[in-house]
Amino acid sequence: MWTTLLDLVLPRTCPGCGAAVPWCASCAAVLGGRPRRVLPPPTDDASDVPPAYALTRYRGPVRAAVLAAKEHGRRDLPAVLGDALGAALVRLTAVSVVLAPLWLVPAPTRPAAARRRGGDPMTAMARAAATVAVAAGLPSGVAPCLSTGRGARDSVGLDAAARRANLQGRVRWHGRAAPPSGAPVVLLDDVLTTGATAAAAAAVLHRRGHPVQAVLTLAAVPPMAR
Ligand SMILES: [Zn+2]
Repeated sequence: MWTTLLDLVLPRTCPGCGAAVPWCASCAAVLGGRPRRVLPPPTDDASDVPPAYALTRYRGPVRAAVLAAKEHGRRDLPAVLGDALGAALVRLTAVSVVLAPLWLVPAPTRPAAARRRGGDPMTAMARAAATVAVAAGLPSGVAPCLSTGRGARDSVGLDAAARRANLQGRVRWHGRAAPPSGAPVVLLDDVLTTGATAAAAAAVLHRRGHPVQAVLTLAAVPPMAR
């Protein structure tokens, strides 16, 4: 209830620049380009990471928006950010990097963290992305079939080795939310940092018979191809 009241009382300002709109056109334009390949991160498990694409580097207005959605309870932002992922999926499909039907799997979060944040932002982003893809004529569905189990800490502030240790074996599978048997999937995340989360999630999906066509994120910490 408090969240609802605050929603009514507090003005929604752009997390990127403070403009008096929830997410202004010039900050949104940062996510408007074509998705670019994230260069393989320099980790020893890079070979486990499916091809990863991102819309921008993790900085500036997009970093501010991701943090506002994830850490500061801006529940209106995931759907807006998800629109950009949807447009990116349409572009990736046009160049056959991914093939429809698109089964979108949100990157795993901790269920408790998701509840505290008033719903899982990644699932909200994936639903918005699917809506954009469907509007463009691509059959799409969202399969929130992964979570991180009890004991997994939030990965903020951990280095690559610590993230690997943190995630290893802690990605949980939820069969009731799974895509149809054998369906290839696209893994969606807000930020690709070391690739450890993507690698752990892809390993579980692969083991369950779902090849990962690509990982698509809003932003990447490692460099991207031109
Ligand atoms: Zn702005």
